[in-house]
Amino acid sequence: MKLKVLVVAGDGIGPEVTNEAVRVLRSVAEMGGHHFEFREELIGGIAIKKAGSPLPSATLDAALESDAVLLGAVGGNEFNSLPPHKRPEAGLLRLRQALGGFANLRPSFAWPALAQNSPLKAEVVTGTDIIFVRELLGGLYFGEPRAWDKQAGAAWNTMRYTRDEVARVARIAFELASSRRKKLTSVDKANVLEVSQLWRATVTEIASHYPNVTLEHQYVDACAMHLMNTPRNFDVVLTENLFGDILSDEAAVITGSLGMLPSATIGGAVNLYEPVHGSAPDIAGKGIANPLGAILTAAMVLRHSAQLEQDAEAVETAVRTVLEQGYRTADLVRGQQGVSTQEMGRQVHEVLSDLIDRRQSMHAV
Ligand code: NAD
Repeated sequence: MKLKVLVVAGDGIGPEVTNEAVRVLRSVAEMGGHHFEFREELIGGIAIKKAGSPLPSATLDAALESDAVLLGAVGGNEFNSLPPHKRPEAGLLRLRQALGGFANLRPSFAWPALAQNSPLKAEVVTGTDIIFVRELLGGLYFGEPRAWDKQAGAAWNTMRYTRDEVARVARIAFELASSRRKKLTSVDKANVLEVSQLWRATVTEIASHYPNVTLEHQYVDACAMHLMNTPRNFDVVLTENLFGDILSDEAAVITGSLGMLPSATIGGAVNLYEPVHGSAPDIAGKGIANPLGAILTAAMVLRHSAQLEQDAEAVETAVRTVLEQGYRTADLVRGQQGVSTQEMGRQVHEVLSDLIDRRQSMHAV
């Protein structure tokens, strides 16, 4: 298996956590005899400093030539006075647009060893394993017309979708559901919005191609409530852009720490993989950031760009194991001293190597 990965570690804790994610990918490649090629380029604040732009053309070109882009995080307090289009975050927005991914995948998983970390009761979150598929390029964030007419004292945005935009993201969600517990919850507000009626009709039409998947429709307000009351009942949740932005953040509390959350944006020219958290300037450089979100992001690279499902699962099992063994970074022990970023990465790496070793010896027998 060959895979060209562009690594754009970015700012703050980005390089610290990305190092650990790359370590995991390298060991999967070495042990499995795969040829993964890693190239590093600049993005964000460090790119502004070294190349005068938050997304230098060398980075964009390299991204478009790669099979997957692995990003750390961008941003830093020293850039806060710059106008928005010159800030580090502008580089990430431009990269996302250029790669064209329209389906943002965000898992929300209750790690058994972290059940007490969630603000929800352990008995409510235990067993939760949700993946959000959020449409990323349409809806209210992009619809025209949009304006703020200050003289008139009025502002407006447009929630707009075409059938094709809904159908393509729905197919991705059904495919995912087929490979999981075969349940898909489509979220809309079809009792009020015409755009949601189109959404519902299109998702129902696509469902006929996936008879093995059970489809349910939920209104967004009811879904927000069910996610907190009975999160275990969800498998794949398909949403439009704005609803997905809000619901996936809401469901993030299930996991217990921002540092645990991976994401992938797929469907475009090149898939983009990034942990959900930002550059965390308050802890950058201290070596205490939680690398597990980035490592789980590497698992998503293996699953969605390398089609190495067994290895993706091995990485997830390794994360589960180190948590069960009691390893915690500071964010997981509420400010008490935890293990370092590198130590957490090393532990995952060791368990992962063991798992792959054992799997290979079983195949050899
Ligand atoms: P943040 O995610 O960087 O940090 C929020 C809080 O969570 C902080 O207390 C931080 O220490 C903690 N945290 C985040 N990731 C952690 C990890 N892996 N381990 C342990 N603790 C972790 O969000 P913010 O403070 O709102 O933003 C900081 C900067 O990051 C800003 O410049 C913002 O624009 C940028 N940002 C970038 C991205 C991205 O690159 N995708 C996303 C969000 C924010």
